[in-house]
Amino acid sequence: MVPQASTDSSAPAEAFWHAVRSGWLPLRQCASCGVSFVVPLPACPSCAGADLVVTKARGTGTVYSWVVAHHAFDPVLADAVPYIAALINLDEGARVYARLVDVADRDLVAGLPVQWSASASRVADRPLLVFRPTQPTEQR
Ligand SMILES: [Zn+2]
Repeated sequence: MVPQASTDSSAPAEAFWHAVRSGWLPLRQCASCGVSFVVPLPACPSCAGADLVVTKARGTGTVYSWVVAHHAFDPVLADAVPYIAALINLDEGARVYARLVDVADRDLVAGLPVQWSASASRVADRPLLVFRPTQPTEQR
């Protein structure tokens, strides 16, 4: 469960990564049960409903949890180790896995306010969700 560079070529995934490359973060909300999620699934992960409304996420949230990866799960991140893989709670209620940058390990705390970075969400021409603190931390 780490931030994944785009390798899924399904239609929902293609549309999702196209949006990310275009500079906006899609948020899916189930019309049946109201659950919001970011992962480009073709149906709701809660009720399996297929009536999904895609909106533009604000891209702000807080850190829920994280790990410091010392081995790249994907070759495109080989030069980035060690890097932080974090679970981010978006303000809209969805939770997403992403890479977290511009924060020192010692400054990481649960609840740290973060913002999605459209410009940083690209590694080697493959999009990758990247968040950074909304306010600079003591050490970068
Ligand atoms: Zn649902």
